[in-house]
Amino acid sequence: MRTMTTTHGPVRSELSGRGQPPHGLAVAALGLAAGGGAQEAGEPPQPARPVLPTAFVCSPAYRRHDTGPYHPEQPARLDAIEQRLRERGLTAHLLAVTPSPAALEWVSTIHSPQYIERVRRSCAAGMPCIDSADVSVCPESYAVALLAAGGVLAAIDAVATAQARNAFCAVRPPGHHALRDRAMGFCLFNNIAIAARYAQGKHKLGKVLIVDWDVHHGNGTQAAFYDDPTVMYVSVHRDPFYPGSGKAAEKGAGAGLSYTLNVPLPVGSGDAEYRQAFIESLVPAALAFTPDLILVSAGFDAHQADPLGGMRVTAAGYRTVTQMVKDLAARCCAGRLVTVLEGGYDLEGLADAVETHVRVLLEP
Ligand SMILES: [Zn+2]
Repeated sequence: MRTMTTTHGPVRSELSGRGQPPHGLAVAALGLAAGGGAQEAGEPPQPARPVLPTAFVCSPAYRRHDTGPYHPEQPARLDAIEQRLRERGLTAHLLAVTPSPAALEWVSTIHSPQYIERVRRSCAAGMPCIDSADVSVCPESYAVALLAAGGVLAAIDAVATAQARNAFCAVRPPGHHALRDRAMGFCLFNNIAIAARYAQGKHKLGKVLIVDWDVHHGNGTQAAFYDDPTVMYVSVHRDPFYPGSGKAAEKGAGAGLSYTLNVPLPVGSGDAEYRQAFIESLVPAALAFTPDLILVSAGFDAHQADPLGGMRVTAAGYRTVTQMVKDLAARCCAGRLVTVLEGGYDLEGLADAVETHVRVLLEP
């Protein structure tokens, strides 16, 4: 009998509100993956459940990354997300995944051992920040950052083994600015880049598409795969803006040429501009690439209420882009889609956007 334990942590069901034991869910999910419904001998065939669940990764421990009282990347972001999902009755429909720390074996596919050790030591020594003043840390930040990366790996496990159809990871600290040897832009370890390498190495999902709709360009993710044709990186972001990279002329190098696609948008862009960028750039590129897995750097700081972003995306806009990547996943890779929180700093706007995002992931 299979258990609901992934490599990086046990999968815990919160479906009890629907009267369904965790174990039954696992059996049903795995039965579906094998092409039939779970069934006891002698019982008549049961109609197959139409879809696998949506996994949700979060942890109280993610609040222990203390950035200080005035930092926009604050623990209250996760409180806002979890409270909203609970209030709207969505939590009961999600498959809760409990993360465990990412093994250094996987973190070091993206970051140098020297950098990983430097982050560990800096946190342990009580340094207030690493590499730049905006990457605030506390003594627990190293462990929390490993747990953030590990949360995404657990979501990859759940999706790759057909325990979940798709997943949303409410993790912090975020990751897409983190470089091989340098912390940047609130980010310590590049969660999504580590996850891409993990999907390839652990689950043999050879081609990974990373879509990045955070308002900022994911310079760390782009750099990690710039010469790699097995990981396509597509970013839609504000330009000019922090961190300064992500021009349309940045298209990859060597064997990776044309596997990086940047769509810079002017300040004030909203739902229509994002939709157009996705239709004109992301969709044809993704269909040509035919990924085995789609990951999303799901920052919600292009929301119209965000204090940093300067864009005008509404919850409806996030519905549209979520639906588009979900449709791409359905067409290309049996629906395998893992989305990962990056930015999003207005608590109400973040809750609105995430609620909409999760609703789309949950839809049949
Ligand atoms: Zn951002």
